[in-house]
Amino acid sequence: MTILSLQHIQKQYDISQQNGFLALRDVSFNVDEGEYVAIMGESGAGKTTLLNIIATLDNATGGEIILNNQNLKQLSEKHAAQFRREHLGFVFQNFNLLDTFNNEENILLPLVLDKKSVPDMKMRLATLAKQLEIEGILKRFPYEISGGQKQRIAAARALITQPDLLLADEPTGALDSHNTERLLTIFESVNQQGQTILMVTHSAKAASHAKRTLFIKDGKIFHEIYRGDQSRTA
Ligand code: ADP
Ligand code: ADP
Repeated sequence: MTILSLQHIQKQYDISQQNGFLALRDVSFNVDEGEYVAIMGESGAGKTTLLNIIATLDNATGGEIILNNQNLKQLSEKHAAQFRREHLGFVFQNFNLLDTFNNEENILLPLVLDKKSVPDMKMRLATLAKQLEIEGILKRFPYEISGGQKQRIAAARALITQPDLLLADEPTGALDSHNTERLLTIFESVNQQGQTILMVTHSAKAASHAKRTLFIKDGKIFHEIYRGDQSRTA
């Protein structure tokens, strides 16, 4: 089943200008349920622009994008926040944890906002904490832990809602090689458990863990590789 479909997505930042700059030119691809897809490209290629559009944080200026059977063009700003909470999980380069809450509260916050039942969330938290090896740091605060630990807390926060799609923006960008490997192993194992993942990165190492990699340059996808499979040019 297709969970995300982009058809001829275009993004022009300054639409008032006749020859305004096209950050995305003609981007089309699908992501099926259960896939682990990386979008790889150098700085300025259009990765963040693309991810922001998929994340319902920005609008395309051309083309169609359908996420979970919802045409994102028809999603009002008011409903976008609700849609994000219900369907998406986010992992960022710089963790985005709140220092005024302890790590466990950071993880549970998305569930609290949606008024989920406490026993359910505690059970899910216990499972995730074990898998992500964060049991020992739940009562500590984000400013008391290392970058690698912060990203595992952030991953738990993203996964606790069991999102239809996990979006990761350069998730290993602030991690050393040991913690990069650790996070990528976690992504692989949650993907094996059925979690659909879309990650953008400039790191070949990070992308190599995905099952499929799309290469983006100057706002266009120009190549596609299936892990352990033949590649083809788009
Ligand atoms: P990446 O994430 O791959 O580094 P971005 O999506 O951030 O690429 O940027 C793609 C292109 O769009 C770049 O040339 C960048 O300068 C331009 N760009 C990004 N954001 C804006 C913006 N808000 N206004 C104008 N141009 C932008
Ligand atoms: P891990 O590999 O599990 O991410 P590290 O080897 O990076 O852990 O860090 C080991 C310990 O050092 C952590 O338990 C953490 O408490 C402490 N630590 C590391 N970096 C920081 C930091 N920036 N601020 C506070 N504590 C830190």
